[in-house]
Amino acid sequence: MKDTAQTVHLSDYMAPRWLVESVALTFRLSPDATRVLARIAFRPDPDAPQQPFMLHGEDLELIDARIDGVAVSPTITAQGLTCDVPDRPFVWEAEVEIAPAQNTALEGLYMSNGMYCTQCEAEGFRKITYYPDRPDVMGVFSVRIESDLPVLLSNGNPVAQGAGWAEWHDPWPKPAYLFALVAGDLVAHSDSFTTMDGRDVALNLWVRAPDLDKCAFGMAALKRAMTWDEQVYGRAYDLDVFNIVAVDDFNMGAMENKGLNIFNSSAVLANQATSTDTDFQRIEAIIAHEYFHNWTGNRITCRDWFQLCLKEGLTVFRDQQFTGYLHGHAVKRIEDALVMRNRQFQEDAGPLAHPVRPESFVEINNFYTVTVYEKGAELVGMLKRLVGDVGYHAALDHYFDRHDGQAATIEDWLTCFTDATGRDLSQFKRWYEQAGTPRLTVSDDFKNATYSLVIRQETPSTPGQPDKRPLHIPVAVGLLDHSGAEIVPTTLVELTEATQTFTFNGLDARPVPSILRGFSAPVIVDRTPPDGERAFLLTHDTDPFNRWDAGRSLARDVLLDLIRADGGPLDAGYVDGLRAVLLDRDLSPAMQALMVALPSEADLAIALAEAGETPDPQHIHRVRRDALRQLAQALADILPDLQAAQRIDAPFAPDAAQAGKRALSNALLGLLTWLDDGTAAKAQFDTADNMTQQIAALGILLTFGQGEAAAEVFYDQWHHDRLVMNKWFAIQIAAADRAQAVEIATRLARHADFDWKNPNRFRSVIGALTGNQAGFHRPNGAGYAFVADWLIRLDPVNPQTTARMVSAFDSLQRWDSVRQAAMRAQLARIRDTPGLSGDTAEMVSRLLT
Ligand code: ZN
Repeated sequence: MKDTAQTVHLSDYMAPRWLVESVALTFRLSPDATRVLARIAFRPDPDAPQQPFMLHGEDLELIDARIDGVAVSPTITAQGLTCDVPDRPFVWEAEVEIAPAQNTALEGLYMSNGMYCTQCEAEGFRKITYYPDRPDVMGVFSVRIESDLPVLLSNGNPVAQGAGWAEWHDPWPKPAYLFALVAGDLVAHSDSFTTMDGRDVALNLWVRAPDLDKCAFGMAALKRAMTWDEQVYGRAYDLDVFNIVAVDDFNMGAMENKGLNIFNSSAVLANQATSTDTDFQRIEAIIAHEYFHNWTGNRITCRDWFQLCLKEGLTVFRDQQFTGYLHGHAVKRIEDALVMRNRQFQEDAGPLAHPVRPESFVEINNFYTVTVYEKGAELVGMLKRLVGDVGYHAALDHYFDRHDGQAATIEDWLTCFTDATGRDLSQFKRWYEQAGTPRLTVSDDFKNATYSLVIRQETPSTPGQPDKRPLHIPVAVGLLDHSGAEIVPTTLVELTEATQTFTFNGLDARPVPSILRGFSAPVIVDRTPPDGERAFLLTHDTDPFNRWDAGRSLARDVLLDLIRADGGPLDAGYVDGLRAVLLDRDLSPAMQALMVALPSEADLAIALAEAGETPDPQHIHRVRRDALRQLAQALADILPDLQAAQRIDAPFAPDAAQAGKRALSNALLGLLTWLDDGTAAKAQFDTADNMTQQIAALGILLTFGQGEAAAEVFYDQWHHDRLVMNKWFAIQIAAADRAQAVEIATRLARHADFDWKNPNRFRSVIGALTGNQAGFHRPNGAGYAFVADWLIRLDPVNPQTTARMVSAFDSLQRWDSVRQAAMRAQLARIRDTPGLSGDTAEMVSRLLT
């Protein structure tokens, strides 16, 4: 734990004086007393400013240190050590002792089920040995591991091994955050891949023996990703071996360590019986994401942690393209837009708002956010839209050519686009610097055969940024005539001023506009459409995203009216629209499933807050549930046949076509349950041969208060499987009806299988409650107190996971004064906990200002 919380500023960046030529590490592994011997060849950079020699180090016991073989006595500080060194190249040697078995924070070298593993991003390497732990210091690593465990892995290529030891060498210079080591009793699911330049690569997915039957899908996904990156970006893999290891205790999804990716087991292990289609798609995306980092992150890394979006935004964009290619670009675009609207816009609207490239931080772990990742990816997508596909790939080729082997910046990145395309991106750069979601107010006019769109942009102020400048926003627009024919195909207009008018000439009649097609920019469009326009677009828009969006905003307004009127009959026009969608044979089941999904309870609360009203979560829950009942009754005549039509007779495959059918089928099952008293859901639960259908049926039964017996059956069937048990915990809380959610979470937190130090299990109980809006936001504050109790308990054990989960309180401004006060009281209680970690302290203090 850090002794002093210090704010780091982007503007204080100073190039390192001491560069690392090469590093040789020896690990003598032992749970409570691992010895780490480091031999580091340093050289001064004559171009960098003079700086005292300083190495980062935390929780290390220094045994001895030498410079060029001569013992030295460094000064140990809170952050590391300083030492007098000669102003010429020299060799630093140090031996330290660490205790991986006692490392519950899961950062640095730690143990998970008897296996050693590491997590060094962002600043974990300093818990392994003294080192200049900053991404712009890159060195060539050689590693020797000594342990009796059978499998000993590190980065790069294997060099030699014998009984009780193994040696690895990574020829690619890398920053310390990409270092990795694994030692354990593991088995491999192996395969191979030949790259486009003829390199034979051994592929291994390392797991514990009982998990071998969950490896095939991940391996196939890896090979798909390797092929795709060659074909679309021209980038091939660059080592003889690519290892992936599955670990049960892990703070995040996965980590792109060079040649040795380490994965949360939930982000890689899957099979038909234990994993849902959503799991399969997520796993495929994460495997691709970490693999793609080999070029965007590892070969080209970040100069400093302020540039995190340089690797994360770009790599998320690349994994989104890959998923779109496999599962359909339209469906994927809708899913990504939902993440932006439901999560990123919320972050932007609350106390935690920050730019895609932040200007300061206390704990960088707190900035692995949906803004840096997903909004960062949106900025890459906008650049691509602005310069076109050819310009985009020319810019990327520039980026790979110029910056390979370097630690780069957003400035470097944008310069590649400008040099490749001649475009001036100085205004576009504001997207990286300015927090908040721009709001576009659109009005239109038709006169003398000319249609004009007037667009005004405004970005609300955010913490530390009271005044906002206009952004460079690509807005994709299409115009339809009243028969639904497209008279102006998708056109990109570029908004750069606060207010701007765009005209379309030579039209016979007033067209129907389709604005922000494909969600061309991460903005909110504010427009009061004339009566019937959204219903028209829901039927006729040629842009699949806007067609879905028209239905979505119609649904939202229908539900908001019901909430305001305290119930009442469901709008007939909306029901007719949905009926048409369900009967439209040109729509894929995946698209139909997205279109019949009602806006979430959180969506509705956000919409009310945006309209200046104060949402009541329990009331929203009640009204939305009643809307579902009415929908089921109104569509009763078509539901059974439609659901039967989604039956799959082919053998199970986790592909897009089958997943789409199962998604639609389960959505229909949820509606049918209003009509058949749970008969069909019970039957599906009893006969399902895959987790997608089993857990969906269980969830539906639980929502209808009929799931208790099924939950017990499920437990008996799956109690031996940690990943499935996470689902068992989570779904009982997610599906719990408002009043019971806190009680159920409390009961499950006492369950013998609630291993709260495991981050996945903690999230499946405590995180699941924060995701049940009506349960978490009980007016008596019981949900807030329960979550705060657990966060206070977890903080000394695992600050990083605690700090991430504190952000569940970031909706506080949305609620009434009673709830807000209760939330603030719990945050203050967390803040005042003695010995609170720096990670959590930073989050709480941002939330409380
Ligand atoms: Zn990443």
